[in-house]
Amino acid sequence: MQPVILRISDNLQSINQQISEACERSKRNAENVSIIAVTKYVSVETTQKAVDSGIVHLGENRDEGFIHKYEQVTGHIKWHFIGTLQSRKVKSIIDKVDYIHSLDRLSLAKEIHKRTNRKVKCFVQVNVSEEESKHGVSSDELIEFIHQLEKYDSIEIIGLMTMAPHIKDEKALRSIFKKTRHLQKEIQELNLSYAPCTELSMGMSNDYSIAVEEGATFVRIGTSLVGNER
Ligand SMILES: *Cc1c(COP(=O)(O)O)cnc(C)c1O
Repeated sequence: MQPVILRISDNLQSINQQISEACERSKRNAENVSIIAVTKYVSVETTQKAVDSGIVHLGENRDEGFIHKYEQVTGHIKWHFIGTLQSRKVKSIIDKVDYIHSLDRLSLAKEIHKRTNRKVKCFVQVNVSEEESKHGVSSDELIEFIHQLEKYDSIEIIGLMTMAPHIKDEKALRSIFKKTRHLQKEIQELNLSYAPCTELSMGMSNDYSIAVEEGATFVRIGTSLVGNER
């Protein structure tokens, strides 16, 4: 079997290739797409190898996993918290995160604001697919939610995050990403200094090419980049 570091480098190369092709198809610049390696299914050792192979952005979806990796993995790393965030867990991660992808309620905004003095780059998570099981603000309530965030001045809304359902239907996936992009545009048109909303966090192992074609600036890739060791 190939050593982990070579396997990750190969995966990274092929993902970069897919991303540049998607950018060509959609007339975008691939420099505007960043890859977040989602390391929730892999060890500290594998995560370290990902960083050693040139990955800068790391994403974890649970506080324990996040803190564990944060304390053990070294290098030039930008730390992304991508999972549902319970308010009581904010305190333990807030000084470690560079980005939070899962801002989905006012109580969480309030807690973030309470626990830090700096500006935190946040994505508002939108439940575009309207699946019951998914977290996120519904499309209908998004604009009002954005307005309500104004009073929490430690929060900078840098973009929207969405998770598509696990389906193969390319058309359905594309429509979810398109809707997210339209919502982003609506927010940009509000011209709010605390909500520049220039970023779109969307696309995972199965659907990142479509997400990039539809405007993703951050793709969150776990399995097909670093694998699954569980
Ligand atoms: C696990 C996870 C991913 C990555 O999933 P893969 O299908 O393994 O690429 C992306 N985003 C979030 C929020 C996740 O929890």
